[in-house]
Amino acid sequence: MRLRNVTGSREIIAGSRFVVQEPFAHKGRWSTVFGNTNPICIEIGMGKGQFITTLAAQNPQINYIGIEKYSTVLLRAVQKMEVLELSNLKFIRMDAEDICEVFGKGEVAKLYLNFSDPWPKDRHAKRRLPSRQFLARYHQILSPDAYVEFKTDNQALFDFALEEITPAGWQVEAVTRDLHHDAVLNQGNIMTEYEQRFSEKGNPIYKYIIYR
Ligand code: SAM
Repeated sequence: MRLRNVTGSREIIAGSRFVVQEPFAHKGRWSTVFGNTNPICIEIGMGKGQFITTLAAQNPQINYIGIEKYSTVLLRAVQKMEVLELSNLKFIRMDAEDICEVFGKGEVAKLYLNFSDPWPKDRHAKRRLPSRQFLARYHQILSPDAYVEFKTDNQALFDFALEEITPAGWQVEAVTRDLHHDAVLNQGNIMTEYEQRFSEKGNPIYKYIIYR
């Protein structure tokens, strides 16, 4: 998702108090950014931020960090925060490939991936956010009892993601191939922008929850 022609988005992001400007400087010390020791949960590839802003508003006792690669997209989430002003939510503009340079060992309590880019070419498989290469990065930053939750409407990406779990040393807690008709897993489900768009078209939503 790349929005074009958003004039000055980089400058707005660089001046926003909701965006942590030097994330690498906080490795292992994110509690000080929030001023408390509440658990820290992250969403990678948060897009315009509908999911994480809703989650953060619902759970003030948990700290959230939304990570997004592009300023033009992150700008939309920043605009939401100017209205919401949530003290338990921060954003980072970065490529998640560098995630281990930003969070210390076991510093993150939970990780969400929603409608991650599919990178359909085989030679790009390692760029997919649920790939074994990314699971190895998540292993480093997540606490031992942490879960990763992944949602998508892309069947090929979901099949790939399921195949990556065991070789990466993770285990399945729950899986559904039709989230919106799964009475248990759909409880409290927060829709993302993509989820809303694709489920309105009739696409089933796939979800897994995994742990080590
Ligand atoms: N999660 C949102 C949703 O469900 O509506 C957005 C989904 S969109 C298809 C994927 C988003 O992930 C894009 O905004 C993209 O820029 C971001 N993204 C993809 N790869 C990323 C990476 N390596 N690091 C950070 N963000 C990434």
